[in-house]
This record gives sequence, C-alpha cells and structure tokens, in this order.
Amino acid sequence: MAYSTKRRFMAGAVCPRCSSMDTIVVFNLDGKDFRECVSCNFKEEMRLNIATSELQTRVNQQDEHSQDVQVIHIVSPDNNN
Ligand SMILES: [Zn+2]
Repeated sequence: MAYSTKRRFMAGAVCPRCSSMDTIVVFNLDGKDFRECVSCNFKEEMRLNIATSELQTRVNQQDEHSQDVQVIHIVSPDNNN
C-alpha cells in the first residue's frame, strides 16, 4: 500500500534548521501532521493540539499561583496587626 500523503508547501515558512524560506512542506501521515524541509531534510511532527493544551495548563497554573500570592499578601498584614 502506498502512502496517500499530499504534500503542500507552506508559503513564507522558514525552516528552523537551515533558515531557508519556502522549503517547508506539510503532509498528513497516520492522522498526524508533519512538516518537512526539502532543503535539509528537517522533519517534525506538528502536535498542535497537545501544544495548545500544554499552554492552557501552564496559564491555569500561573493563575492559581498568582491567586495564592494575593491571598497570602492580604492575610499577612492582618497577622502583623
Ligand atoms: Zn531546512
């Protein structure tokens, strides 16, 4: 069975390895999106969904942390007085 991958160039995309422009092709394989540089053979899986969820988790943790800091900041003056 031959792969039915459709490769298409990403206009204006710059390769993170060789910094060449318009050499990045994207294709789908086994339900995953990959990008590949035709100039230096750089290849990377594009895990967009996972990256987004990681960012949201980090933001949520930062929000909780800042809330904790605010609570401590408000409680401390009361203890001192
Ligand atoms: Zn490259």
